[in-house]
Amino acid sequence: MDMPARIESDAPGGDVAAGDGQRGFLGKLGARMGKRGAAPANLDTREALLLVRNYEESRRGWFWSTDASGRLTYITDAVARLIGRQGAGELLGTPFTDLFLPADSNGERQRTLPFLLTRQSKFDDLPLRAAADGEPRWWAVSGRPHFTPGGSFAGYRGSGMDITAQRQSAEDASRLALYDSLTGLANRFNISRKLDTTLAAFAQQQRSCAIMLLDLDRFKQVNDTLGHPAGDALLKQVAERLLKIVGDKEMVSRLGGDEFQIILPDQEDRGKLGDTAADIIASLSQPYSVEGSRCIIGASVGVAIAPFDGQTSDDLVRNADLALYAAKGSGRGRFRFYSSDLHQAAEDRRVLEEDLRDALARGEMQLAYQPVVNAKSNMVTGVEALVRWNHSERGMISPAMFIPIAEEANLIWQLGEWVLRKACEDAMRWPGDMRVAVNVSPIQFANEDLPKIVASALATTGLSPDRLELEITESVFLGDSTETARMFKALKGLGVRLALDDFGTGYSSLGYLQSAPFDKIKIDQSFVRGATEPGSRNGAIIAAIVALAEALEMETTAEGIESLDQLELVRKLSVSHVQGYVYSQPVANAELLEHAEAGSWTIKPSGPAKQRNGRFQMFRKVGAIHDNHRYNVVIRNLSTTGAFIEGILDVPIGTRFVIDFGEGQLVTATVRRSMKHQQGVQFEQTMVSDGNGGLCTRHRVSPYLIAAATQQTAANLALPSFTTTTDWKAA
Ligand code: C2E
Ligand code: MG
Ligand code: MG
Repeated sequence: MDMPARIESDAPGGDVAAGDGQRGFLGKLGARMGKRGAAPANLDTREALLLVRNYEESRRGWFWSTDASGRLTYITDAVARLIGRQGAGELLGTPFTDLFLPADSNGERQRTLPFLLTRQSKFDDLPLRAAADGEPRWWAVSGRPHFTPGGSFAGYRGSGMDITAQRQSAEDASRLALYDSLTGLANRFNISRKLDTTLAAFAQQQRSCAIMLLDLDRFKQVNDTLGHPAGDALLKQVAERLLKIVGDKEMVSRLGGDEFQIILPDQEDRGKLGDTAADIIASLSQPYSVEGSRCIIGASVGVAIAPFDGQTSDDLVRNADLALYAAKGSGRGRFRFYSSDLHQAAEDRRVLEEDLRDALARGEMQLAYQPVVNAKSNMVTGVEALVRWNHSERGMISPAMFIPIAEEANLIWQLGEWVLRKACEDAMRWPGDMRVAVNVSPIQFANEDLPKIVASALATTGLSPDRLELEITESVFLGDSTETARMFKALKGLGVRLALDDFGTGYSSLGYLQSAPFDKIKIDQSFVRGATEPGSRNGAIIAAIVALAEALEMETTAEGIESLDQLELVRKLSVSHVQGYVYSQPVANAELLEHAEAGSWTIKPSGPAKQRNGRFQMFRKVGAIHDNHRYNVVIRNLSTTGAFIEGILDVPIGTRFVIDFGEGQLVTATVRRSMKHQQGVQFEQTMVSDGNGGLCTRHRVSPYLIAAATQQTAANLALPSFTTTTDWKAA
């Protein structure tokens, strides 16, 4: 320690130039003390003085004093330097309050200090922001007024301490408590508190509020193949895209992992909410560039709306979660509105998963084969194997329903292997050299054992590899592209054919067609359907795909062709193959053998001349309300603008009904056609997509209104004006 030496050299120097504030001040003090000369007091004061100096030099704190007008008479040198002055001398005589910024970090004016100073109050540890450029610096400042012997105010003396570090960590802590450190979005705690307060306030004002729960599809795959830093970078980009669509930063939150929640106050229009959800899904499904790699993920969204789907945040979140689960179950990349039957659906799914575990062992799985036909010659060139589950109690269950369950429950590998072997086995017994196509789940594709399994199925059955075609979906292009390339190479090495399935439903980038060794592109049904709609660009895109495929020597198959006009369209677009009901439904192996026996199998296309547009065939019980009487009717088909109802007799054209679809979904409808027990009605409000291939009303009658209305209706019941079919039959 060199302190004593410095004390010796500084302290006696009572004549240090007054221009250097700090030294001057201390110097003068020292000089005065020296003049007073009383030995013990002198020593004490001197010691105190040296301690002050020492303390100031340690930079742990500083001292200040002012005159009665609030102007500095002393300030520690270090403070002056910190706020950009040469030394303390420059500050002497300037207002003490100038040392601090007039506003704090939240932009709020700091009025406390001037107030305290004019009141001549003492103060302790007042947090103040230094008037320094750059990173914010904070001081805790204390001061005591001092007075002349006559009792009049003479100024302040005080001290200050740097508290920047503490302050920052406190701020960080409170930010961490409310915001997600990775994306900067509100965190789970923050958003659930916000939802609580919003719902409580809105309930009183009878306002609605929607929430969306969002889960990324295949995020885990990216995380696993590209690594966690890439996963983190991806999540940040997801957050940015979400903010761009939603706008209000405070209403978007990351709940954790790859789950997000959005609050949409004052929204209950399911048309608009569906559009927003679809925008979000479309935006998040665009390719990302992370750490030099390109990757693609998807998103599923569940929507619940207060007060219709729940009035407390717990109920609303639980129901949005159920809708999200249903959205994922129905194929991912979808949104879904909550409806009360989802509770049953979730339970059904759980039971199905249980049953699926031993469905194979119980011999409940079967294969059906759908012909793939040469579009010009009507000759069957191959078939696609489609798995069927003949459930002991429920009958046939669609693979669209149970394949996702099998994927989630880790049963797809076992099931896929069975399908592969069975298809090869059956194909060996077919006459001629008809090909068999087998669907391969992306989960199977990601397993490095796949080539071994394929080779083994070929070897044990003796099927020639060029008769086996594996159908793969675009989602295999996510994640690690070198792994994907290696898998393609291994499979091609076995001599099997590869087809790209469901083209037009996913990301549909033509880019990877050039590098991946496909023998065929299968254009999805929805894409072909779209092409027949007026104004659609799908036709032009199909033409481009066909041109590219021809250049790369790939075949094209149009899937799901049902009507003759669709067939004509795809023929015109030069699609080489067609698969669909217009030629044949999937058939059992026995039926296939009957047809194929002839050697060359041709099918004459047959079906409706035109594709029916957007009508949903159904059998749905609803209420039709007329003159305060409620009739039970059945909806036979439904479009956004009208429906065909059954159940009331001889209703005059022009009659207006309110159709009650349940759960507060009411639509006013006018009878336009009437044939005995059937009526074609036109809606006054168009229906919108429910995100699940069905329709729902835009708005619902609020539970608040229903509560108010039930008190009145009892008094207003009327007699029915029409006869129902059941009454009529009984009569
Ligand atoms: P996919 O591979 O695109 O198969 C075509 C689907 O379209 C089949 O539905 C088929 O029955 C249906 N389809 C064919 N023509 C028409 C038509 O003209 N109109 C209509 N509306 N539909 C038509 P399916 O059998 O219900 O299979 C659905 C999906 O389940 C398949 O779509 C495939 O992705 C998956 N899948 C089926 N079998 C298997 C399998 O063994 N393994 C795996 N991983 N997935 C499978
Ligand atoms: Mg397929
Ligand atoms: Mg397909």
